[in-house]
Amino acid sequence: MGEGAAAADGPDFSLGVSVADMADGAILSGRVGAEPALLIRRGDEFSIIGSACTHYQGPLGEGLVVADTIRCPWHHACFSLRDGRALRAPALDPIPCWRAEKRGDLLFAMEKIDPSTRERAPAPPTLGRVVIIGGGAAGLAAAHELREEGYSGSLVMVSADAAAPYDRPNLSKDYLAGSAPEDWLPLRPRAYYEERRIELLLATNVRAIDPRARLVCLEHGEPLRYDALLLATGAEPVRLTIPGAELPHVHYLRSLADSRALIAAAARASRVAVIGASFIGLETAAALRERGLEVHVVAPDSTPMQKTLGEDIGRLVRATHEAHGVVFHLCESVVAIGEDHVALASGARVPADLVVVGVGVRPLTTLAEEAGLAVDHGVLVDEYLETSAPRVFAAGDIARWPDRHSGERIRIEHFVTAERQGQTAARNILGAKEPFEAPPFFWSRHYDMTIAYVGHAGAWDRVEIAGDLEKRDCIVTYFCRDHRMATATIGRDLDNLRVEAELEASTGG
Ligand SMILES: Cc1cc2nc3c(=O)[nH]c(=O)nc-3n(C[C@H](O)[C@H](O)[C@H](O)COP(=O)(O)OP(=O)(O)OC[C@H]3O[C@@H](n4cnc5c(N)ncnc54)[C@H](O)[C@@H]3O)c2cc1C
Repeated sequence: MGEGAAAADGPDFSLGVSVADMADGAILSGRVGAEPALLIRRGDEFSIIGSACTHYQGPLGEGLVVADTIRCPWHHACFSLRDGRALRAPALDPIPCWRAEKRGDLLFAMEKIDPSTRERAPAPPTLGRVVIIGGGAAGLAAAHELREEGYSGSLVMVSADAAAPYDRPNLSKDYLAGSAPEDWLPLRPRAYYEERRIELLLATNVRAIDPRARLVCLEHGEPLRYDALLLATGAEPVRLTIPGAELPHVHYLRSLADSRALIAAAARASRVAVIGASFIGLETAAALRERGLEVHVVAPDSTPMQKTLGEDIGRLVRATHEAHGVVFHLCESVVAIGEDHVALASGARVPADLVVVGVGVRPLTTLAEEAGLAVDHGVLVDEYLETSAPRVFAAGDIARWPDRHSGERIRIEHFVTAERQGQTAARNILGAKEPFEAPPFFWSRHYDMTIAYVGHAGAWDRVEIAGDLEKRDCIVTYFCRDHRMATATIGRDLDNLRVEAELEASTGG
């Protein structure tokens, strides 16, 4: 994966730089030799770090410093200013970090700090094997964190998917639009799994779990015994049951295989009907417009994305798509799909030789349900992400957890939140007893417009807009009884980070 990437210019910190005039909190761009770097002042402390986020190469110099961390403005990756360690997803790899030495008024970048040498608590001796079901965002983040925290026992990740963990959000964005090659998608190279001794069982379906006997039963092969289990099975698209829904030109989008199939179908098609004005539906609409297809969106809503983002952003999203040639058929539903059209409830027909359905997802909770775990619109977990069965944890799209900020039990479908839950679950498997308190965060991209959203507002009674929506430079805040529930921003990444930090401070997360 890669975008952005900073050039190495400005002062060379290894030759010494004057910090006498540097204000508290200031960030100075420069380099260490040929490597782009940032010098950051916090009181009397100075940190020198690499300037590019290791997730999508976002510009950390435009990010936010919070205590001894720096956060990336693009997708909120969080790194330590002390040793460059990747503290929170979507950061998984550290950034370079140099020891800073002050001599008089000058500050020098010295040798690099190796974050892997830090002390870790030993893993519980009873933890012979950890099994993770799911090779997605939560599953991989958990496996990585277990090894980062020094767990050296057996670690097995079972995934029904034939592909090793990949960047799922990209499936409806650059990859689908044709602007990112497939080799951007893997979250890790294959060698990574061998190096970290993560046994990756791909194209392997788990049939059942037995929490009493601590067994994971595979569809084929011997059962796996575990000492701790993480359920991270994600979600599957809701399927339509209307006439024609089984026709071969009807597509869904969840996996890499789905995205590949859609790309192949788009190459043969000229007009697509997207059913559903959801995030997936509209990102798909944007990507297929970029491929030059005529795009029609059919949805029962009066405004796209209104349920999550409200009327104002919804109207902007619609206008943005219309400006790119998308035709909306709103307050409408599809009642049947034909070879060359979709039929609407109003009697109208929309010509289409390709159909993409994006009408929501359903969490894959069957394994948990059949094993007798507490399930209610998701697998119920406590604040430590442990299910009703001891030593069985759940994370990601399936987990419904007590969210401190909203005061509600919530289940959401965000990539970064799934990864962060995987990280917390991993630490708790190792005995950390750490509550999951990160405010939910997601982003969605439509052409050159990115919406960032932090917090969770299932419902709200007031919306405040600061800035200019039309200019795509705004902060939209959702309140419920005067309590700030969530904030969406467009063109204001730094403000989004600030809100995340405020939400964290208000919940102690
Ligand atoms: C096209 C697309 C675009 C998206 N874009 C964004 C975005 O822009 N921003 C954002 O925040 N979120 C986005 N999301 C949502 C985000 O990708 C999910 O919230 C996230 O992937 C959830 O992670 P997870 O680990 O819970 O599940 P997943 O990533 O779905 O992984 C689940 C894994 O479990 C495996 N599995 C399921 N059942 C079994 C079984 N019985 N046995 C073995 N393995 C099993 C699956 O094969 C898969 O490997 C997008 C999702 C999609 C599909």
